[in-house]
Amino acid sequence: AGSGKFFVGGNWKCNGTKDSISKLISDLNSAKLESDVDVVVAPPFLYIDQVKSSLTDRIEISAQNCWTGKGGAFTGEISAEQLKDLGCKWVILGHSERRHIIGENDEFIGKKAAYALSQNMGVIACIGELLEERESGKTFDVCFQQLKAFADALPSWDDVVIAYEPVWAIGTGKVATPEQAQEVHAAVRDWLSKNVSAEVASKTRIIYGGSVNGGNSSDLAKKEDIDGFLVGGASLKGPEFATIINSVT
Ligand code: PEP
Repeated sequence: AGSGKFFVGGNWKCNGTKDSISKLISDLNSAKLESDVDVVVAPPFLYIDQVKSSLTDRIEISAQNCWTGKGGAFTGEISAEQLKDLGCKWVILGHSERRHIIGENDEFIGKKAAYALSQNMGVIACIGELLEERESGKTFDVCFQQLKAFADALPSWDDVVIAYEPVWAIGTGKVATPEQAQEVHAAVRDWLSKNVSAEVASKTRIIYGGSVNGGNSSDLAKKEDIDGFLVGGASLKGPEFATIINSVT
């Protein structure tokens, strides 16, 4: 972990019911969490209100997506203003499932991120390469292109956390090795320093996502440029998510 405050997000994706979420909240409320870690959970939109009203204030709430601008005639969408109204402080944008399953592109994602920041929400900006891109030596190119789209769209990086999530590691049980993750995190930091500023490079937290669990998080957390995690599957289990949060070194 670097010098910034460790950041751990739990992305619940499209999972949960009122009952299962109530059990998860009670596990999280009773978990003992390291104080020096920012902790965020991202429930499905429908359950944000339930989570906000029963989860400890120690944990902040994120959405998993939002609209590109102010609300209005956009059937099925949710605006940043509405998310803030429910007490949501963060939004995950550019997640690989939205890029590759839903088909969101860099420009669309950049717009969403800029609008969310303009509404004083924090953005968890996700980037990451597909397996075939890694195998053909394009990991850095792909990550830098996705980063550039964020950089082009964003007026500031103050409330942005970058999540490096290799697509081949998400939900597959195939975690990147600490060395593989560190290599990309260092390259992302270097890109920020050359293309944004040295200050943004040193203060922006870069978190890793992709099959993080209670057994592999502490080795990953030891790496210099890994400033936290974005956790999918393992964030649905309260005690394991707490172990990951507490793996900060
Ligand atoms: C994610 O969805 O951001 C993620 C990293 O999922 P998992 O931890 O299940 O691989």
